Amino acid sequence: QAARLHDLTEGPYASQIKAVTVVFSDLEGRLHMLDYDKKFLVKSYDNLTFDGSSIRGFTAQRESDLRLGLDWSAFYWTPADVFGAGKVLVFGEVIDKNGEHYSGDLRGVLKSYAKEQFEKNGYTLNAANEIEGFLFEGIDAERSFHETGTFEYVNKGGYYHSLPGDPLREFIDTVSEVQRAMGFENEKDHPEVAPSQFEINYTYGDVVAAADQIQLYKLICRQVATQMGMTASFLPKPVTGVNGSGMHTNVSITKEGKNLMYDAAGEEKISKLGWEFVDRILTHGNDICLLLNASVNAYRRLDPHFEAPNQIKASATDRGSMVRIPIGNEKSSRVEVRSVGPDANPYMVLYSVFKTGLDGETAQIDNLRQASRYLPDNIYTAIEDFRKADWATKLLGEDVKARYADLKQASADRCPRLLGTIVKSSEVQFH
Ligand code: GLU
Ligand code: MG
Ligand code: MG
Repeated sequence: QAARLHDLTEGPYASQIKAVTVVFSDLEGRLHMLDYDKKFLVKSYDNLTFDGSSIRGFTAQRESDLRLGLDWSAFYWTPADVFGAGKVLVFGEVIDKNGEHYSGDLRGVLKSYAKEQFEKNGYTLNAANEIEGFLFEGIDAERSFHETGTFEYVNKGGYYHSLPGDPLREFIDTVSEVQRAMGFENEKDHPEVAPSQFEINYTYGDVVAAADQIQLYKLICRQVATQMGMTASFLPKPVTGVNGSGMHTNVSITKEGKNLMYDAAGEEKISKLGWEFVDRILTHGNDICLLLNASVNAYRRLDPHFEAPNQIKASATDRGSMVRIPIGNEKSSRVEVRSVGPDANPYMVLYSVFKTGLDGETAQIDNLRQASRYLPDNIYTAIEDFRKADWATKLLGEDVKARYADLKQASADRCPRLLGTIVKSSEVQFH
Protein backbone atom coordinates (compact mmCIF):
# COMPACT_ATOMS: atom_id res chain seq x y z
CA GLN A 1 0.00 0.00 0.00
CA ALA A 2 2.67 2.49 1.02
CA ALA A 3 4.63 1.74 -2.16
CA ARG A 4 1.57 2.30 -4.32
CA LEU A 5 0.63 5.53 -2.60
CA HIS A 6 4.20 6.61 -3.18
CA ASP A 7 3.82 5.76 -6.89
CA LEU A 8 0.76 7.96 -7.01
CA THR A 9 2.18 10.92 -5.14
CA GLU A 10 5.98 11.02 -5.49
CA GLY A 11 7.12 8.25 -7.85
CA PRO A 12 8.74 9.03 -11.21
CA TYR A 13 5.37 8.93 -13.01
CA ALA A 14 3.32 10.62 -10.30
CA SER A 15 2.91 13.87 -12.21
CA GLN A 16 1.36 11.97 -15.12
CA ILE A 17 -1.26 10.15 -13.06
CA LYS A 18 -4.53 12.03 -12.82
CA ALA A 19 -7.05 9.38 -11.85
CA VAL A 20 -7.35 5.88 -10.46
CA THR A 21 -9.78 3.44 -12.02
CA VAL A 22 -11.24 1.13 -9.38
CA VAL A 23 -12.85 -2.05 -10.66
CA PHE A 24 -14.99 -4.72 -9.03
CA SER A 25 -17.40 -7.38 -10.26
CA ASP A 26 -21.05 -8.05 -9.54
CA LEU A 27 -22.52 -11.43 -8.67
CA GLU A 28 -22.81 -12.46 -12.32
CA GLY A 29 -19.26 -11.33 -13.09
CA ARG A 30 -19.86 -8.07 -14.91
CA LEU A 31 -16.96 -5.72 -14.35
CA HIS A 32 -17.84 -2.33 -12.88
CA MET A 33 -15.42 0.58 -13.10
CA LEU A 34 -15.29 3.96 -11.46
CA ASP A 35 -12.64 6.64 -11.70
CA TYR A 36 -11.47 8.55 -8.66
CA ASP A 37 -9.51 11.71 -9.00
CA LYS A 38 -6.05 10.90 -7.70
CA LYS A 39 -5.90 13.69 -5.12
CA PHE A 40 -9.26 12.69 -3.70
CA LEU A 41 -8.33 9.01 -3.61
CA VAL A 42 -5.04 9.57 -1.82
CA LYS A 43 -6.93 11.44 0.92
CA SER A 44 -9.98 9.18 1.13
CA TYR A 45 -8.98 5.68 0.05
CA ASP A 46 -9.99 4.18 3.39
CA ASN A 47 -13.44 5.71 3.35
CA LEU A 48 -14.94 5.02 -0.08
CA THR A 49 -18.62 4.08 -0.13
CA PHE A 50 -21.14 3.27 -2.84
CA ASP A 51 -24.77 2.32 -3.27
CA GLY A 52 -24.88 -1.48 -3.50
CA SER A 53 -28.56 -1.64 -4.42
CA SER A 54 -27.80 -0.46 -7.96
CA ILE A 55 -25.42 -3.36 -8.62
CA ARG A 56 -27.10 -6.53 -9.82
CA GLY A 57 -27.07 -9.27 -7.21
CA PHE A 58 -25.80 -7.00 -4.45
CA THR A 59 -27.72 -5.67 -1.43
CA ALA A 60 -31.40 -4.92 -1.12
CA GLN A 61 -32.27 -1.24 -1.09
CA ARG A 62 -32.83 -0.94 2.64
CA GLU A 63 -29.25 -1.98 3.38
CA SER A 64 -27.68 -0.40 0.37
CA ASP A 65 -24.50 1.30 1.58
CA LEU A 66 -21.34 -0.68 1.01
CA ARG A 67 -17.73 0.24 1.37
CA LEU A 68 -15.09 -0.14 -1.31
CA GLY A 69 -11.69 -1.25 -0.04
CA LEU A 70 -8.69 -1.21 -2.37
CA ASP A 71 -6.51 -4.24 -2.93
CA TRP A 72 -3.18 -2.55 -3.57
CA SER A 73 -1.59 -5.89 -4.43
CA ALA A 74 -3.78 -5.88 -7.55
CA PHE A 75 -2.52 -2.63 -9.06
CA TYR A 76 -1.96 -2.22 -12.82
CA TRP A 77 -0.29 0.41 -14.98
CA THR A 78 -2.54 0.97 -17.98
CA PRO A 79 -1.53 2.08 -21.50
CA ALA A 80 -3.04 5.47 -22.26
CA ASP A 81 -4.16 4.68 -25.80
CA VAL A 82 -6.46 1.92 -24.55
CA PHE A 83 -7.50 2.99 -21.05
CA GLY A 84 -7.38 6.76 -21.41
CA ALA A 85 -4.54 9.08 -20.48
CA GLY A 86 -3.22 9.56 -16.97
CA LYS A 87 -4.83 6.57 -15.30
CA VAL A 88 -3.85 3.54 -13.30
CA LEU A 89 -6.09 0.67 -12.26
CA VAL A 90 -6.65 -1.10 -8.96
CA PHE A 91 -9.04 -3.86 -7.94
CA GLY A 92 -11.56 -2.96 -5.28
CA GLU A 93 -13.02 -5.19 -2.61
CA VAL A 94 -16.56 -4.80 -1.42
CA ILE A 95 -16.84 -4.52 2.35
CA ASP A 96 -20.09 -4.74 4.32
CA LYS A 97 -21.02 -2.54 7.24
CA ASN A 98 -19.38 -4.93 9.72
CA GLY A 99 -16.06 -4.51 7.94
CA GLU A 100 -16.15 -8.03 6.46
CA HIS A 101 -15.82 -9.07 2.81
CA TYR A 102 -19.31 -8.72 1.36
CA SER A 103 -20.72 -12.17 0.54
CA GLY A 104 -21.98 -11.16 -2.93
CA ASP A 105 -18.49 -10.10 -4.02
CA LEU A 106 -17.01 -13.42 -5.06
CA ARG A 107 -13.55 -11.93 -5.37
CA GLY A 108 -13.54 -11.45 -1.62
CA VAL A 109 -14.96 -14.93 -1.06
CA LEU A 110 -12.25 -16.45 -3.25
CA LYS A 111 -9.53 -14.39 -1.62
CA SER A 112 -10.55 -15.31 1.94
CA TYR A 113 -10.78 -18.97 0.98
CA ALA A 114 -7.33 -19.01 -0.63
CA LYS A 115 -5.74 -17.01 2.17
CA GLU A 116 -7.28 -18.42 5.31
CA GLN A 117 -7.24 -22.06 4.39
CA PHE A 118 -4.19 -22.36 2.15
CA GLU A 119 -1.77 -19.44 1.94
CA LYS A 120 -1.48 -19.29 5.71
CA ASN A 121 -0.29 -22.89 5.71
CA GLY A 122 2.14 -22.48 2.85
CA TYR A 123 -0.03 -23.71 -0.04
CA THR A 124 -0.69 -21.77 -3.23
CA LEU A 125 -3.74 -22.31 -5.41
CA ASN A 126 -2.75 -21.74 -9.06
CA ALA A 127 -4.94 -21.21 -12.06
CA ALA A 128 -4.59 -20.61 -15.78
CA ASN A 129 -7.55 -20.04 -18.04
CA GLU A 130 -7.74 -20.45 -21.79
CA ILE A 131 -10.26 -17.85 -22.81
CA GLU A 132 -11.60 -18.13 -26.33
CA GLY A 133 -13.63 -15.45 -28.05
CA PHE A 134 -14.88 -14.21 -31.42
CA LEU A 135 -14.12 -11.01 -33.28
CA PHE A 136 -17.08 -9.69 -35.26
CA GLU A 137 -17.57 -6.79 -37.64
CA GLY A 138 -19.12 -3.63 -36.23
CA ILE A 139 -19.18 -1.99 -32.83
CA ASP A 140 -21.81 -3.47 -30.55
CA ALA A 141 -22.41 -6.51 -32.75
CA GLU A 142 -24.03 -8.35 -29.83
CA ARG A 143 -26.74 -5.75 -29.53
CA SER A 144 -27.34 -5.39 -33.25
CA PHE A 145 -27.66 -9.17 -33.44
CA HIS A 146 -31.18 -8.66 -32.13
CA GLU A 147 -32.12 -6.78 -35.29
CA THR A 148 -30.03 -8.53 -37.91
CA GLY A 149 -29.93 -12.08 -36.54
CA THR A 150 -26.35 -12.55 -37.74
CA PHE A 151 -22.77 -11.93 -36.78
CA GLU A 152 -20.27 -11.05 -39.47
CA TYR A 153 -16.89 -12.73 -39.34
CA VAL A 154 -13.82 -10.55 -39.86
CA ASN A 155 -11.90 -13.39 -41.53
CA LYS A 156 -12.40 -16.88 -42.80
CA GLY A 157 -9.21 -18.35 -41.36
CA GLY A 158 -9.02 -21.29 -39.05
CA TYR A 159 -6.78 -22.86 -36.45
CA TYR A 160 -3.40 -21.10 -36.33
CA HIS A 161 -4.16 -19.57 -39.69
CA SER A 162 -3.54 -15.91 -40.25
CA LEU A 163 -1.73 -13.61 -42.59
CA PRO A 164 -0.07 -10.33 -41.69
CA GLY A 165 -2.54 -7.50 -42.07
CA ASP A 166 -5.48 -9.74 -41.36
CA PRO A 167 -7.82 -7.90 -38.93
CA LEU A 168 -7.92 -10.85 -36.54
CA ARG A 169 -4.11 -10.96 -36.51
CA GLU A 170 -3.93 -7.21 -35.92
CA PHE A 171 -6.40 -7.52 -33.07
CA ILE A 172 -4.46 -10.38 -31.45
CA ASP A 173 -1.17 -8.50 -31.81
CA THR A 174 -2.58 -5.35 -30.23
CA VAL A 175 -4.20 -7.19 -27.32
CA SER A 176 -0.96 -9.08 -26.63
CA GLU A 177 1.01 -5.85 -26.68
CA VAL A 178 -1.38 -4.21 -24.21
CA GLN A 179 -1.11 -7.25 -21.96
CA ARG A 180 2.67 -7.14 -22.01
CA ALA A 181 2.57 -3.46 -21.09
CA MET A 182 0.34 -4.32 -18.12
CA GLY A 183 2.59 -7.08 -16.83
CA PHE A 184 0.87 -10.21 -18.12
CA GLU A 185 3.32 -12.96 -19.00
CA ASN A 186 2.02 -13.99 -22.40
CA GLU A 187 2.72 -17.48 -23.65
CA LYS A 188 1.03 -17.92 -27.00
CA ASP A 189 -1.76 -16.48 -29.06
CA HIS A 190 -3.51 -17.82 -32.12
CA PRO A 191 -6.62 -17.84 -34.25
CA GLU A 192 -8.83 -20.69 -32.98
CA VAL A 193 -10.69 -23.37 -34.92
CA ALA A 194 -13.80 -21.39 -35.90
CA PRO A 195 -13.58 -18.50 -38.37
CA SER A 196 -12.89 -15.19 -36.60
CA GLN A 197 -12.18 -16.99 -33.31
CA PHE A 198 -9.15 -16.25 -31.13
CA GLU A 199 -7.36 -17.45 -28.02
CA ILE A 200 -4.61 -15.56 -26.23
CA ASN A 201 -2.84 -17.42 -23.44
CA TYR A 202 -0.79 -16.05 -20.60
CA THR A 203 0.90 -17.77 -17.72
CA TYR A 204 -0.77 -19.18 -14.63
CA GLY A 205 -0.89 -17.22 -11.42
CA ASP A 206 -2.23 -17.42 -7.93
CA VAL A 207 -5.96 -17.83 -8.02
CA VAL A 208 -7.05 -14.26 -7.24
CA ALA A 209 -4.59 -12.69 -9.68
CA ALA A 210 -5.67 -15.25 -12.29
CA ALA A 211 -9.33 -14.27 -11.92
CA ASP A 212 -8.45 -10.55 -12.03
CA GLN A 213 -6.53 -11.14 -15.23
CA ILE A 214 -9.51 -12.85 -16.85
CA GLN A 215 -11.51 -9.70 -16.18
CA LEU A 216 -8.72 -7.52 -17.56
CA TYR A 217 -8.22 -9.76 -20.61
CA LYS A 218 -11.87 -9.46 -21.57
CA LEU A 219 -11.83 -5.73 -20.94
CA ILE A 220 -8.72 -5.23 -23.09
CA CYS A 221 -10.17 -7.37 -25.90
CA ARG A 222 -13.40 -5.39 -25.91
CA GLN A 223 -11.61 -2.09 -25.81
CA VAL A 224 -9.16 -2.95 -28.61
CA ALA A 225 -11.94 -4.41 -30.77
CA THR A 226 -14.04 -1.29 -30.36
CA GLN A 227 -11.13 0.87 -31.41
CA MET A 228 -10.92 -1.24 -34.58
CA GLY A 229 -14.66 -0.82 -35.23
CA MET A 230 -15.33 -4.41 -34.22
CA THR A 231 -16.73 -6.43 -31.31
CA ALA A 232 -14.97 -9.00 -29.15
CA SER A 233 -17.63 -11.44 -28.03
CA PHE A 234 -17.34 -13.93 -25.21
CA LEU A 235 -20.65 -15.59 -25.86
CA PRO A 236 -20.06 -19.33 -25.54
CA LYS A 237 -21.87 -20.15 -28.79
CA PRO A 238 -22.53 -17.10 -30.93
CA VAL A 239 -22.70 -19.02 -34.20
CA THR A 240 -24.28 -22.42 -34.71
CA GLY A 241 -22.50 -25.04 -36.78
CA VAL A 242 -18.96 -24.04 -35.76
CA ASN A 243 -16.95 -24.38 -32.53
CA GLY A 244 -18.05 -22.31 -29.58
CA SER A 245 -15.82 -20.54 -27.08
CA GLY A 246 -14.70 -22.12 -23.84
CA MET A 247 -12.82 -20.92 -20.80
CA HIS A 248 -10.93 -24.07 -19.89
CA THR A 249 -9.85 -23.75 -16.29
CA ASN A 250 -6.49 -25.35 -15.45
CA VAL A 251 -5.72 -25.73 -11.77
CA SER A 252 -2.90 -26.94 -9.57
CA ILE A 253 -1.70 -26.60 -5.98
CA THR A 254 1.86 -26.01 -4.89
CA LYS A 255 3.65 -26.15 -1.56
CA GLU A 256 7.15 -24.69 -1.34
CA GLY A 257 7.38 -24.82 -5.10
CA LYS A 258 6.36 -28.49 -5.27
CA ASN A 259 3.41 -29.28 -7.54
CA LEU A 260 1.06 -31.45 -5.48
CA MET A 261 -0.95 -32.54 -8.52
CA TYR A 262 2.10 -34.38 -9.88
CA ASP A 263 3.25 -37.90 -9.11
CA ALA A 264 5.62 -39.64 -11.52
CA ALA A 265 4.12 -43.01 -10.50
CA GLY A 266 0.48 -41.90 -10.63
CA GLU A 267 -2.01 -42.64 -13.40
CA GLU A 268 -1.42 -39.99 -16.10
CA LYS A 269 1.29 -38.69 -13.72
CA ILE A 270 -1.41 -37.27 -11.48
CA SER A 271 -1.14 -37.65 -7.71
CA LYS A 272 -3.70 -39.14 -5.34
CA LEU A 273 -4.66 -35.61 -4.30
CA GLY A 274 -5.13 -34.73 -7.97
CA TRP A 275 -7.39 -37.69 -8.69
CA GLU A 276 -9.45 -37.05 -5.56
CA PHE A 277 -9.84 -33.49 -6.80
CA VAL A 278 -11.12 -34.83 -10.13
CA ASP A 279 -13.54 -37.25 -8.45
CA ARG A 280 -15.10 -34.52 -6.34
CA ILE A 281 -15.59 -32.28 -9.38
CA LEU A 282 -17.28 -35.16 -11.22
CA THR A 283 -19.44 -36.00 -8.20
CA HIS A 284 -20.71 -32.42 -8.01
CA GLY A 285 -20.73 -31.81 -11.79
CA ASN A 286 -24.44 -31.12 -11.95
CA ASP A 287 -24.51 -29.18 -8.66
CA ILE A 288 -22.05 -26.55 -9.87
CA CYS A 289 -22.88 -26.54 -13.59
CA LEU A 290 -24.85 -23.29 -13.35
CA LEU A 291 -21.83 -21.57 -11.79
CA LEU A 292 -19.54 -22.63 -14.64
CA ASN A 293 -22.08 -22.29 -17.45
CA ALA A 294 -23.94 -19.22 -16.44
CA SER A 295 -26.02 -18.13 -19.43
CA VAL A 296 -28.75 -19.46 -21.68
CA ASN A 297 -26.26 -19.44 -24.53
CA ALA A 298 -23.64 -21.47 -22.60
CA TYR A 299 -25.77 -24.61 -22.93
CA ARG A 300 -25.67 -24.41 -26.72
CA ARG A 301 -21.90 -24.73 -26.56
CA LEU A 302 -21.86 -28.01 -24.63
CA ASP A 303 -21.79 -30.26 -27.67
CA PRO A 304 -18.94 -32.79 -28.02
CA HIS A 305 -19.06 -32.50 -31.83
CA PHE A 306 -17.42 -29.13 -31.42
CA GLU A 307 -14.77 -30.15 -28.86
CA ALA A 308 -17.00 -28.81 -26.09
CA PRO A 309 -17.65 -31.04 -23.10
CA ASN A 310 -21.03 -32.19 -21.88
CA GLN A 311 -20.03 -35.57 -20.44
CA ILE A 312 -19.33 -35.79 -16.72
CA LYS A 313 -16.18 -37.84 -16.99
CA ALA A 314 -12.41 -37.52 -16.91
CA SER A 315 -10.10 -38.34 -19.78
CA ALA A 316 -6.60 -37.63 -20.97
CA THR A 317 -7.71 -37.40 -24.57
CA ASP A 318 -11.46 -36.96 -25.02
CA ARG A 319 -12.23 -33.25 -25.38
CA GLY A 320 -15.90 -33.98 -24.80
CA SER A 321 -15.25 -34.72 -21.13
CA MET A 322 -15.82 -32.28 -18.30
CA VAL A 323 -12.35 -32.90 -16.90
CA ARG A 324 -9.24 -33.52 -18.94
CA ILE A 325 -5.72 -34.33 -17.81
CA PRO A 326 -3.38 -32.55 -20.23
CA ILE A 327 0.05 -34.07 -20.84
CA GLY A 328 2.25 -32.62 -18.13
CA ASN A 329 5.47 -32.88 -16.19
CA GLU A 330 6.57 -32.09 -12.67
CA LYS A 331 6.06 -28.41 -13.25
CA SER A 332 3.00 -28.33 -15.47
CA SER A 333 0.82 -31.25 -14.30
CA ARG A 334 -2.67 -29.97 -13.71
CA VAL A 335 -6.35 -30.68 -13.93
CA GLU A 336 -8.30 -29.00 -16.73
CA VAL A 337 -12.00 -28.32 -16.20
CA ARG A 338 -13.36 -27.80 -19.72
CA SER A 339 -17.04 -27.24 -19.10
CA VAL A 340 -16.74 -23.54 -18.37
CA GLY A 341 -18.11 -20.70 -20.49
CA PRO A 342 -16.13 -17.46 -20.97
CA ASP A 343 -19.14 -15.41 -19.82
CA ALA A 344 -19.20 -16.95 -16.32
CA ASN A 345 -18.03 -15.00 -13.26
CA PRO A 346 -14.32 -15.97 -13.06
CA TYR A 347 -14.18 -15.54 -9.27
CA MET A 348 -17.21 -17.79 -8.94
CA VAL A 349 -15.68 -20.33 -11.33
CA LEU A 350 -12.32 -20.53 -9.57
CA TYR A 351 -13.84 -20.53 -6.10
CA SER A 352 -16.28 -23.33 -6.92
CA VAL A 353 -13.72 -25.42 -8.80
CA PHE A 354 -11.15 -25.26 -5.97
CA LYS A 355 -13.59 -25.58 -3.12
CA THR A 356 -15.40 -28.49 -4.79
CA GLY A 357 -12.16 -30.23 -5.75
CA LEU A 358 -10.68 -29.85 -2.28
CA ASP A 359 -13.64 -29.98 0.10
CA GLY A 360 -16.43 -31.70 -1.84
CA GLU A 361 -17.69 -35.25 -1.51
CA THR A 362 -16.92 -38.29 -3.65
CA ALA A 363 -19.81 -40.38 -4.97
CA GLN A 364 -19.48 -44.07 -4.24
CA ILE A 365 -20.35 -45.21 -7.74
CA ASP A 366 -18.43 -47.57 -9.98
CA ASN A 367 -16.53 -46.00 -12.82
CA LEU A 368 -17.14 -42.49 -11.62
CA ARG A 369 -14.48 -41.25 -14.05
CA GLN A 370 -15.89 -43.08 -17.07
CA ALA A 371 -19.59 -43.16 -16.33
CA SER A 372 -21.58 -41.42 -19.00
CA ARG A 373 -23.54 -38.94 -17.02
CA TYR A 374 -24.29 -35.68 -18.78
CA LEU A 375 -24.42 -32.02 -17.91
CA PRO A 376 -27.78 -30.32 -18.46
CA ASP A 377 -28.52 -29.28 -22.05
CA ASN A 378 -30.46 -26.16 -21.08
CA ILE A 379 -30.29 -23.53 -18.36
CA TYR A 380 -33.63 -24.44 -16.78
CA THR A 381 -32.41 -27.92 -15.84
CA ALA A 382 -29.16 -26.42 -14.59
CA ILE A 383 -31.08 -23.97 -12.38
CA GLU A 384 -33.19 -26.81 -11.00
CA ASP A 385 -30.11 -28.95 -10.24
CA PHE A 386 -28.42 -26.00 -8.61
CA ARG A 387 -31.38 -25.04 -6.44
CA LYS A 388 -31.74 -28.52 -5.04
CA ALA A 389 -28.00 -29.09 -4.47
CA ASP A 390 -26.93 -29.07 -0.80
CA TRP A 391 -23.38 -28.62 -2.04
CA ALA A 392 -24.31 -25.30 -3.65
CA THR A 393 -25.63 -24.11 -0.28
CA LYS A 394 -22.39 -25.13 1.40
CA LEU A 395 -20.42 -23.27 -1.26
CA LEU A 396 -22.26 -19.98 -1.25
CA GLY A 397 -24.64 -19.87 1.70
CA GLU A 398 -28.46 -19.79 1.36
CA ASP A 399 -28.67 -16.10 0.59
CA VAL A 400 -26.13 -15.78 -2.23
CA LYS A 401 -27.23 -19.12 -3.68
CA ALA A 402 -30.85 -17.96 -3.91
CA ARG A 403 -29.92 -14.57 -5.31
CA TYR A 404 -27.74 -16.13 -7.99
CA ALA A 405 -30.39 -18.67 -8.98
CA ASP A 406 -33.03 -15.92 -9.16
CA LEU A 407 -30.85 -13.81 -11.44
CA LYS A 408 -30.29 -16.76 -13.77
CA GLN A 409 -33.98 -17.60 -13.73
CA ALA A 410 -34.81 -14.00 -14.66
CA SER A 411 -32.27 -13.96 -17.50
CA ALA A 412 -33.65 -17.22 -18.87
CA ASP A 413 -37.22 -15.92 -18.60
CA ARG A 414 -36.27 -12.80 -20.57
CA CYS A 415 -35.72 -15.00 -23.63
CA PRO A 416 -39.03 -15.37 -25.42
CA ARG A 417 -39.90 -18.98 -25.99
CA LEU A 418 -41.61 -20.70 -28.82
CA LEU A 419 -43.37 -23.90 -27.83
CA GLY A 420 -41.04 -24.24 -24.86
CA THR A 421 -37.89 -23.79 -26.94
CA ILE A 422 -35.76 -20.73 -26.43
CA VAL A 423 -35.75 -18.65 -29.60
CA LYS A 424 -32.18 -18.44 -30.82
CA SER A 425 -32.07 -14.86 -31.96
CA SER A 426 -33.20 -13.47 -28.61
CA GLU A 427 -30.84 -15.23 -26.33
CA VAL A 428 -27.82 -13.00 -26.59
CA GLN A 429 -26.77 -11.81 -23.16
CA PHE A 430 -24.16 -9.28 -22.31
CA HIS A 431 -21.21 -10.00 -20.11
N1 GLU B 1 -13.59 -24.30 -28.56
C1 GLU B 1 -13.65 -25.51 -27.79
C2 GLU B 1 -14.58 -25.35 -26.59
O1 GLU B 1 -15.64 -24.83 -26.77
C3 GLU B 1 -12.31 -25.93 -27.30
C4 GLU B 1 -11.25 -26.16 -28.31
C5 GLU B 1 -9.91 -26.43 -27.65
O2 GLU B 1 -9.77 -27.51 -27.04
O3 GLU B 1 -9.07 -25.54 -27.62
O4 GLU B 1 -14.32 -25.71 -25.48
MG1 MG C 1 -8.66 -23.46 -27.41
MG1 MG D 1 -7.67 -26.52 -23.18
